[in-house]
Amino acid sequence: MSIHTSRAIQIDQHGGPEQLKLVQITVGEPGPGDVRIRHHAVGLNFIDVYHRTGLYPMPMPARLGMEAAGVIEAVGEGVTHLQVGDRAAYASPPPGSYCELRVMPAKCVCKLPDAISFETGAAMMLKGLTAQYLLKRTLPMGGLHAGDFVLFHAAAGGVGLIACQWARALGLRLIGTAGSAQKCALALANGAEFAINYAEEDFLARVKEITAGQGVKVVYDSVGKDTWDKSLDCLAPLGLMASFGNASGPVPPFAPGILGPKGSLYVTRQTLFTHMSTRESTQAMADELFAVVSSGQVQIHIAQRYRLEDVQQAHRDLEARKTTGCTVLTL
Ligand code: NDP
Repeated sequence: MSIHTSRAIQIDQHGGPEQLKLVQITVGEPGPGDVRIRHHAVGLNFIDVYHRTGLYPMPMPARLGMEAAGVIEAVGEGVTHLQVGDRAAYASPPPGSYCELRVMPAKCVCKLPDAISFETGAAMMLKGLTAQYLLKRTLPMGGLHAGDFVLFHAAAGGVGLIACQWARALGLRLIGTAGSAQKCALALANGAEFAINYAEEDFLARVKEITAGQGVKVVYDSVGKDTWDKSLDCLAPLGLMASFGNASGPVPPFAPGILGPKGSLYVTRQTLFTHMSTRESTQAMADELFAVVSSGQVQIHIAQRYRLEDVQQAHRDLEARKTTGCTVLTL
């Protein structure tokens, strides 16, 4: 068995960005169902912050990162959809994409179309598949149709800018929120029909104004604690609250009884990996993402690049809300 080495980022305990340490790891041959992939670029995601801080606890020591693109170097027994030399990209547990080389389950790894660069593939898989399942699979009663209003928080972020463009392609009237005037301008330039600077404006009042008091069919909320209460009040009767993140902290416990008087609302807490539970669903979702990116309907904005060894700064900037669009770690 041949042994390879790789630089990787590891934490020995949960905590701040200073816990992110550059280490040297050894990488062996893939077992059954696994592949060995040599990364060309790695994607940064807010979930990496939750893993680092311990909001989503992990056994220690732990590797971080859920997204990357590269070339398949070795294929384990039983893997049929990938071959040595294939260009590939993934969004996948277990965490550990912050490295040059790794062995991982092949199930969530997809062949990357030639027209899509490694950097774009690394930046878009987790965020783009999230936008896909939110807009196409996380639907209110009766579905979503062209002309429907939806509210999307953090619209200038990684998932947000992809969702703005994809919603426009679907004919949805997306109202985006973002934390500065510049971020609002970015959301508007990428397909949001309205943008609300929720650092300065009351987003509930603005949503009521924009929708002539009717409210929106779905709120897509990854901000969590800070936006939860008002988001519920932005919904039309029978509307759907799709909670999918905690950038400002977890949503506090609530009594289901409050949903009745607000208009018999639906509430769901979604995670990408439920939707990617089979190889077939993963590939179907990825094919849709590849199609909208290849056609130009959705452009992947890589607004920040950091070297792997500068990952502490990348985490600081992401948490400080200094980033827009996608962030890539270069190798
Ligand atoms: P983003 O690029 O969107 O960065 C997070 C953004 O959240 C910030 O830029 C900021 O935008 C906003 N935000 C609001 N309040 C805070 C706060 N207190 N601290 C920090 N940021 C805040 O990240 P990603 O695109 O990687 O992910 C977006 C969200 O989606 C995350 O919450 C992530 O966990 C979630 N997610 C969930 C998935 C799932 O399946 N459940 C899958 C993928 C992502 P602004 O300044 O404009 O407010």
